[in-house]
Amino acid sequence: MNAHLDSFRTDATALIGEAYVVSGADAAPFEVDFWKQYEGKAAFVVRPANTLEVAGLVRLAAQYRVSLVPQGGNTGLVNGGIPDGTGNEVVLSLQRMNHILAVDPAGDYLTVEAGVILADVQKAAEAADRLFPLSLGAEGSCRIGGNIATNAGGVNVLRYGMMRDLVLGLEVVLSDGSILNLLKPLRKDNTGYDLKQLFIGSEGTLGIVTAATLRLAAPARERVTFWLAVATPEAAVELFRHSRGVFGDLISSFELISSYGVEAACTHLPGVRRPLAQPYPWHVLIELAWTFTTGLRERAEQVIAKLFEEDRFIDGAIAENEAQRLMMWRIREGQSEATSKIGYVVRSDVTVAIADIPELIQRCDAFTADYGSDAAVLPFGHIGDGNLHMNFVVPREKAKELAPRLFEQLFVEVDNLKGSISAEHGVGRAKRDAIVSRKPPEAMVLMARLKTTLDPDGILNPGVVVAVPTKG
Ligand SMILES: Cc1cc2nc3c(=O)[nH]c(=O)nc-3n(C[C@H](O)[C@H](O)[C@H](O)COP(=O)(O)OP(=O)(O)OC[C@H]3O[C@@H](n4cnc5c(N)ncnc54)[C@H](O)[C@@H]3O)c2cc1C
Repeated sequence: MNAHLDSFRTDATALIGEAYVVSGADAAPFEVDFWKQYEGKAAFVVRPANTLEVAGLVRLAAQYRVSLVPQGGNTGLVNGGIPDGTGNEVVLSLQRMNHILAVDPAGDYLTVEAGVILADVQKAAEAADRLFPLSLGAEGSCRIGGNIATNAGGVNVLRYGMMRDLVLGLEVVLSDGSILNLLKPLRKDNTGYDLKQLFIGSEGTLGIVTAATLRLAAPARERVTFWLAVATPEAAVELFRHSRGVFGDLISSFELISSYGVEAACTHLPGVRRPLAQPYPWHVLIELAWTFTTGLRERAEQVIAKLFEEDRFIDGAIAENEAQRLMMWRIREGQSEATSKIGYVVRSDVTVAIADIPELIQRCDAFTADYGSDAAVLPFGHIGDGNLHMNFVVPREKAKELAPRLFEQLFVEVDNLKGSISAEHGVGRAKRDAIVSRKPPEAMVLMARLKTTLDPDGILNPGVVVAVPTKG
């Protein structure tokens, strides 16, 4: 360990206590991501208990020129929340900052520390007869600070927007250790630049989120969940168009799942069964919700029956109870987990115009055919907002060779369709270089300028999102 790191560790230990500065085997869980795709080496891990301790640690990092990697639940998918391989970066874990600070149903907001697990925020909202609508597969592990730093999306974006749309106020520790308190629960505040938005989606490179005030929505008291089979992705997109016209904002989720994905889930996830007796090429999972306790199901069934008469889908099932609803969602959320039993999963997260989804799938099918049995395409995701996880399953022993080629081909097709190579997962280190040629040069210059303005010494998650030379 170099002299700067030694001094930082000594002072950090005095500030937050020896028990909360960990290294060796205790640091191991902080050095590898959720799917064990990326691995780094931390000098050590600091685990502050509150905003003042975070501020103190950042001041020390600035003094000793030590790089800090903020980390929440460590479920990020783009290699942004674990240290690099040098052993010189310090992980700053927010996990101890897990208190719900205020819940105000009348004002429709709650305020939480950055380390609160997303599922606990949802529960706190529910206890106050409200809904916190952000929902994603990792909600039992990911933390609000990480959701904000990645501008997370998930299955309810169609109706409620991304994390950016759910944040009313933010508290952020800046790179000089000062605390920027923007925690007001106001819906309207046009007093100049909306600074909180700078930090949402900045992946820990511009400041460390320590607390947030979040917007609540009306409770979803009645939910109706359909599992419908369609012949093609075109039919799924058409079904979305019709459903949107009839149900409007009652649709919270509209997800696409392939036959390959459903069969993988039924084979490899314990207790999972197909919602429809026979296999079909494609499936959509539609979830509707409203605040009344009854009446939605009857109306929805009438609409769905009419769509069936019009041949807009081939077969379908409705979730008769919560267990059936959870089974449908298990298939959808378990796509990566199930296919990881078959081979190495090359995970992606891209977005195109909704109308272009079938074309993207068709082009990916076409180039994947050249790989023969070495690659299977697994498209699934949030077609209601144009976001597909276009994954590929390849033999483990060939992953290193095939993954970069598949990414490159996928990204070219996404470019051709004028989409984005990162819909909701962010950039991290994984896509840092790939975005450079895809964004306007002026945007890249402005991003680098923002980084050097807000973090002049380059101590906050260097190398993530945008490469800026450090002062050394
Ligand atoms: C099974 C699974 C399903 C997923 N599904 C979805 C999905 O549907 N939609 C979606 O958008 N994402 C999804 N994700 C990825 C998603 O990015 C994360 O789940 C989540 O938003 C990250 O939160 P985290 O606390 O785990 O962050 P981490 O992984 O700890 O960190 C992610 C990034 O945020 C930074 N960061 C973390 N905390 C802070 C903080 N307090 N201040 C500043 N920077 C910070 C880190 O440095 C890193 O760059 C999924 C991941 C998994 C494993």
